[in-house]
Amino acid sequence: MNNYQEYLNSEGWKAKRNMILNMWGNRCALCNEGGLLQVHHRTYERKGNENPFDLIPLCEKHHEMLNPKQEPELELSYEQSVRAAVAKMTLCLEIELDTPENLNHRENIKKNIEGIKLRYEATTGERFIS
Ligand SMILES: [Zn+2]
Repeated sequence: MNNYQEYLNSEGWKAKRNMILNMWGNRCALCNEGGLLQVHHRTYERKGNENPFDLIPLCEKHHEMLNPKQEPELELSYEQSVRAAVAKMTLCLEIELDTPENLNHRENIKKNIEGIKLRYEATTGERFIS
């Protein structure tokens, strides 16, 4: 969908957004904080036609963690970028439901985390300590 920004301004999205916020009692799905919340897409598979499980409310801090803004002036070291990737995927594991449908997805995330750690260790010759 090219007019995604338009979609985010539409009544349809506003209604969906409010439904999600109500479902979660107007609290961040991760830390349970109230206040200013953003509705996060767990997947863009059904962008524009999301089902309630595709969306969760997040506080600003947690939304930023899951959707880091691109900051080109911020040069991450290799170790920092590995740590950021591992932290992000670990967070995904924490919020992905531990249901049979999610089993493969969770296994893939775990494999990715292990793969990143192994690559780090092979590249640097140092142990990766989380
Ligand atoms: Zn939060």
